[in-house]
Amino acid sequence: QTLVNEFARLGEPMPQIKARIAFNENPHGLSPKAKEAIIKAVESGNRYAMFEGQELKKLIAEREGVKPENIMLSAGSSELLTAMAVYFAGSAAKGAGGTVLTSQFTYDDFLGCAKKFGAKVEAVPLTKEYRYDLAAMKAKITPDTKLVYICNPNNPTGTVIPAEELVAFSKEVSPKLPVFIDEAYIDFLKPEDRPALPKLVAEGHNLFLTRTFSKIHGFAGLRLGYAIGPEKFLKELQNYSRGEWNPSVTTLRAGIASYQDLEWQNFCRTENDKARDFLYKGLKDKGYEYVPSFANFVLFPIRMKPKTFEKEMFSNGILTSTREYNAQPYCRVSIGTQDEMGLFMDAFKKIV
Ligand code: PLP
Repeated sequence: QTLVNEFARLGEPMPQIKARIAFNENPHGLSPKAKEAIIKAVESGNRYAMFEGQELKKLIAEREGVKPENIMLSAGSSELLTAMAVYFAGSAAKGAGGTVLTSQFTYDDFLGCAKKFGAKVEAVPLTKEYRYDLAAMKAKITPDTKLVYICNPNNPTGTVIPAEELVAFSKEVSPKLPVFIDEAYIDFLKPEDRPALPKLVAEGHNLFLTRTFSKIHGFAGLRLGYAIGPEKFLKELQNYSRGEWNPSVTTLRAGIASYQDLEWQNFCRTENDKARDFLYKGLKDKGYEYVPSFANFVLFPIRMKPKTFEKEMFSNGILTSTREYNAQPYCRVSIGTQDEMGLFMDAFKKIV
């Protein structure tokens, strides 16, 4: 958006976008079954959603081994992050302020919102492998700590915390403090590699997970997300969100179809892996290091100012994004189709 505004401000002609690989969207689009469901749902566009939410929650609950009451739906997971921030940092229920404990170089949407509502943020450095440092986080827990926020796989690094480590941390910390784990990218891990956190919710731990349909299901524009957490807590959280009533009938019907289409999810995961390997090879051939990723984006250090890099790539039709950490600039490129990654590498070779 900033780039689009910048070109408009300078009165320069907008380059034709050949590859939109900045927002970690799914380049393959919707499952054919979701598309079919959308077409059918058009007939119900005049109705509020009534049974669809229950149906989707039941499906999620069955797969995750929790009760439907442990699921809360929303129009994208961002809405849940905001509700969490308001509830924990700004509500009368929890008392204003307090400290959110997290890591540096992580997804800052929830953290930024919590700060606006009066919380402080204590962020520990990443390990040298760009991973969350759970031991360092544990050492930083004080009586003022209100909540732990973890993004796993982490955005923007793409790294994961080993499953057993995260489960052990959650078991140990959640009896003292709520642990909030943002699992927006969890679907890019094979089911057997995912940490068994919903099981901890079922066992009654004070653990709260958020997930989104925006990534592997390709619903970034349709908007659908969900939380898994203790029933009592989700009921309270409903007070701070439009929650159940927010996703449209169309989106919910498409979500029900997409959730059951495992073939499409496997296809998107496999294609993502292939295009990511293709990118790794291109970067390596050019003498660039990268952070091995478990998600649909890759972070790598660049040798150019972030804004210059973004602008030059944009001039070549590639919409990508950059970050800075410890004064080092990085590109965080989303994984598009293999063709799009080819276009990315062509432009990259041209500008560096
Ligand atoms: N959490 C993380 C880590 C993200 O990267 C994103 C979006 O990119 C979100 C949450 C919010 O996504 P959405 O609101 O589309 O579910």
